Amino acid sequence: MSKKNVLHVKNLNKIYSKNSNKSIHALNNLNLEVKEGEIFGLLGPNGAGKSTFINILSGLVKKSSGEVNVWGFDLDKNPRQVKASLGIVPQEVNLDPFFNPKKLLELHAGFYGVKKNQRITEIILKLVSLEDQASSYSRNLSGGMKRRLLVAKALVHQPPIVILDEPTAGVDVELRKNLWENLKSLNDQGVTIILTTHYIHEAQQMCDRIGILNKGDLVALDTTKNLLDKIQTKTVRFVLNNKANIKDNSLDTLKIVSNNNNELIVSYEKNKLEIEKIISFLGNQNVKINDISTDDGDLEDVFVNLTKN
Ligand code: ADP
Ligand code: MG
Repeated sequence: MSKKNVLHVKNLNKIYSKNSNKSIHALNNLNLEVKEGEIFGLLGPNGAGKSTFINILSGLVKKSSGEVNVWGFDLDKNPRQVKASLGIVPQEVNLDPFFNPKKLLELHAGFYGVKKNQRITEIILKLVSLEDQASSYSRNLSGGMKRRLLVAKALVHQPPIVILDEPTAGVDVELRKNLWENLKSLNDQGVTIILTTHYIHEAQQMCDRIGILNKGDLVALDTTKNLLDKIQTKTVRFVLNNKANIKDNSLDTLKIVSNNNNELIVSYEKNKLEIEKIISFLGNQNVKINDISTDDGDLEDVFVNLTKN
């Protein structure tokens, strides 16, 4: 079953011009689509254009050219409907210190025109695990709680799409896990999630599809699984009965990473060489293999490859 696309981006460009002789092409002909119900991750090093993209969607930054369609609404023609379809969690924490979470969410729901009897304040507070802090001043919340309150704020009008810019930046490991769980349960309820992050391992675990931006160019766009399948270099660790004595390594692409005592670590390209050949090669060197473990590489390898200059 193929799901419909809820975000279409066509030939999107953003050029910031500071003065007449210096301009920055922050987004260069960006094309992408996000499907209903998926968790889509936009990855990229600092300055790649991630926040520029999010800020165009939220209306904070004006695009230079191109088309953006959200939930069936064109950004130029129906900006209000686009806004109503999105819940945006900004990168910067910016909350009024004198309101408590409950009050803040009620006020925000009011801004969005959500009627009193249609508000889901308690449910949202529970979702972001802030029900115990419902009545504490925002200024007394920890950094992680403030960030979760920002997520809560983006949910008051029950948008079908939630967009988060670096939601876990500066959040400690425990709260990060908690935040990812909150996002997962939102997603389980059918909400489409789009996020930017530089925590590549978390993106690998969380996201169905990933786009990688580098200096305004989309250098990869695929399912997380397909991106991982593209990694060709495999690393293997052998535990041997004694030190391997490798004189002539004639196997194509085989590299000795380290060879200490009875541990030998090698790498090879999986489209050029099979592990059986390495095993029989070691057998010919008169060493016995006691244990083998392999490392398939992860998204970090893909990322480094695509964003290095
Ligand atoms: P990211 O979020 O991936 O770190 P940004 O979208 O913030 O990247 O920035 C992309 C590029 O655009 C960077 O080179 C940045 O310096 C530049 N940029 C961002 N905002 C502005 C702005 N308001 N004025 C001028 N240049 C900007
Ligand atoms: Mg950013």
